[in-house]
Amino acid sequence: MHSDIAWNHLRGLTPLSLCDWPGHPCCVVYLGGCNLRCPTCHNASLAWDMESQALLPQAALRGFLARRARWLSGITVTGGEPTAVPGVGAILHELKASGLPVKLDTNGMLPEVVALMLAEGLVRTFAVDVKGPYAKYPALTGGAADETAARKSLSRIFALAEERPEAFYFRTTRVPLLTDDDMEAVRGMLPAGFALTIQDYKKPRRPHALADSEARRTAGNLVD
Ligand code: SF4
Repeated sequence: MHSDIAWNHLRGLTPLSLCDWPGHPCCVVYLGGCNLRCPTCHNASLAWDMESQALLPQAALRGFLARRARWLSGITVTGGEPTAVPGVGAILHELKASGLPVKLDTNGMLPEVVALMLAEGLVRTFAVDVKGPYAKYPALTGGAADETAARKSLSRIFALAEERPEAFYFRTTRVPLLTDDDMEAVRGMLPAGFALTIQDYKKPRRPHALADSEARRTAGNLVD
């Protein structure tokens, strides 16, 4: 069953974050697996080797939300790439049942999944990571997305953003491969009226390390 597969991707939880969703003290839910292979990935273990990260049981997440939802104003779902998780809607429905709005981080390469989540009201806000100019996608994604695929997927995302501007914002991490001209090029790709949030690149502490080690730690702590 797809929902069982989806829950098997639940690999961590940060109980409180003040920075993952600006203006929303939120918890952060981590889903393993990704459809890209960015050489600068900060969550490489989670993205490419999720079995190396402790599974967070569905019951633990449910119990956490029952106890803590009233202290939060949102839930961030991140990865990995949440839209690439088969049956991810089952998790999003569970989160929605908490009464908290969901913000979901995505690389935007599966726009029809984004469209479905939007249409079903499962996600309030999408934070879309635009990796760089289309021509640099092969290098920026470890060969997982070529220029044509990036252009096609992001064009669809931008069309959705024009229809529902309140539901999207766009970010680019300034990785070493990107120049000032590239950042300007990305700004030019966005639909009219959207600003680009630029995130500083921090070198991963070690290869294949889960950047937010707290996510792994809390996965164990929350099983009570
Ligand atoms: S899209 Fe994100 S999680 Fe996936 S490989 Fe790239 S940086 Fe890592």
